[in-house]
Amino acid sequence: MCGIVGYTGCCQAAPILLEGLTRLEYRGYDSAGIAVRDEGAPRIEVVKAKGRLKNLMEMTDSGRAVRGCCGVGHTRWATHGEPSTVNAHPHDSKDKRVVLVHNGIIENHQEIREALQRKGYVFKSQTDTEAACLLLDSYYAESMGGDLSPRERALDAIHRLMIRVRGSYALGILFGDQPGVLYAARKDSPLIVGCCSEEMHGHMIASDVPAVLGFTRNVVYIGNDEIACLTRDERHIYNIDCEEIEKPVTEIQWDAAAAEKDGYEHFMMKEIHEQPRAVRDTLSPRIKEEEEKRFIDLSETGLTDEDLAGISRVYMVGCGSAYHAACVGRVVLEQLAHVPCEVDLASEFRYRDPILEERGLVIFISQSGETADTLAALRLCRECGVRTLAVVNVVGSSIAREADAVMYTWAGPEISVATTKAYSTQLCALYLIAVKLASARGQIDEARQAQLIEDMLALPDKIERVLSDKERVQWFANKMAACKDVFFIGRGLDYAISLEGSLKLKEISYIHSEAYAAGELKHGTISLIEDGVLVVGVATQPALFEKVVSNMTEARSRGAYLFGLTTYGQYAIEDTVNFTVYVPRTDPLFATSLAVVPLQLLAYYISCAKGLDVDKPRNLAKSVTVE
Ligand code: GLU
Repeated sequence: MCGIVGYTGCCQAAPILLEGLTRLEYRGYDSAGIAVRDEGAPRIEVVKAKGRLKNLMEMTDSGRAVRGCCGVGHTRWATHGEPSTVNAHPHDSKDKRVVLVHNGIIENHQEIREALQRKGYVFKSQTDTEAACLLLDSYYAESMGGDLSPRERALDAIHRLMIRVRGSYALGILFGDQPGVLYAARKDSPLIVGCCSEEMHGHMIASDVPAVLGFTRNVVYIGNDEIACLTRDERHIYNIDCEEIEKPVTEIQWDAAAAEKDGYEHFMMKEIHEQPRAVRDTLSPRIKEEEEKRFIDLSETGLTDEDLAGISRVYMVGCGSAYHAACVGRVVLEQLAHVPCEVDLASEFRYRDPILEERGLVIFISQSGETADTLAALRLCRECGVRTLAVVNVVGSSIAREADAVMYTWAGPEISVATTKAYSTQLCALYLIAVKLASARGQIDEARQAQLIEDMLALPDKIERVLSDKERVQWFANKMAACKDVFFIGRGLDYAISLEGSLKLKEISYIHSEAYAAGELKHGTISLIEDGVLVVGVATQPALFEKVVSNMTEARSRGAYLFGLTTYGQYAIEDTVNFTVYVPRTDPLFATSLAVVPLQLLAYYISCAKGLDVDKPRNLAKSVTVE
């Protein structure tokens, strides 16, 4: 999720690695480390430190104290295991036979860890990464003494690793007995190879373009399931079957600022595009399969099926978008698990003397895990002795530490103030809880559970499809950029998503907007509808479709301009609205995950059309740590 840099060439590696990591600092991280191989030294040297890169610079005299021309570096955004020096990367096997840095998540790390422990491997850290490192070591060791060349052995071991691990990864790898050779591999996490200029002579790897820009503009994009083998003079790229493939060299035209955003104009757009990956990372590690049956595993929360079956009421607490995710979560949870659920704004919850049932479960939702109101509400619940569960993005944050249990969303660092991918992963966490609760309480049968899981797993590709049609929303946003008032209306889940769509627009476009339960409009607010007011009607729920369309018709009769957002197949909406966006079909309970994307895009493009500061809107902070 954070940063990887690697170098092999004719210069000293450590200063280059540190310089590359500095270029990735903007992403945020909790610890950092480098591993460098000096040709003459018996083994690879590894230096790591918790906290800022400055610590690593001090420990290594800005890299000068670590000699050698080949190495890898890493800045970590913890997912498995607290931020600490032991958990920092690079990870290494005995005698540094294999040294590795990793971005992403190894989903089946636990099972790999146990299998390796049975073989006598000893683990030093709590990370998922170390499981990959030691597994690679075991494969590499197995081919020792055979007639394969060192490179063939390494490729074979990496190939076997890629087959065995599940999840997302970009890996930078050094083998102790192959000085000067740098390997890399990836799946679902970005990775590039940099081809260095004459005077630096050599190759780099990096998770992001900014890390190499100081050294080269010529890069090769490593594709999914591909492996790179690099030396000072040679560059070979292989597919997962270790067959060599040709890859074009691309010249990066962007400047450093654009490179930080992966070529997108803003972090928000980059993060919108990261949603398929973030949603996949959040869902799939929790979906297990045994005897061809898929089920949801939330053992990380420590809640057993009995605990879940015994829950009498669920409370969900959050602020801003996290509260909106809770509004979606409530509908899904009540419909599937038939457990009563209350949703509260954290700042209100605390002061309403909530009546908490003894067998209740309170879920606290926060991207940063530091939101002051949510943290205070959590402390209140802890005093009452009711069971608490945190759904947060930042590992080791206060809310994560203080709650009884935690379920992390794997969105990765989010830089744009307006949340997109963190919200989307919060939804997924709540879906998982709802389906799990429903099955633990016997409210859904196996077939329904299997269908729901399949629909969840199909969400990333469907989000991708929505993104592929973004120009349509852009066209509409440009047309609407001057509007003064916008109403978002919907019923049920479509109301919950309207709340988020409206907030997104307010946050970054500074246009007045409101979200209304569609049926409530005529109880007063409809008096505000006049010529030119934009009404966004969300109608993804088949059972409520006609009702929402009728409410849109009422608005149109009073002069509103209508944007309809629905699913493919509901073409009747065209008779009523001025502009429509369709999203792919899914189980209606999960439609929010798709419908939110055009609403994020609408807010984004309107903000751009108005020339506003998309990533840092006025008056707002990313993490609200004051009450
Ligand atoms: N999952 C790994 C860890 O927690 C990698 C995190 C990252 O991508 O920085 O160490």
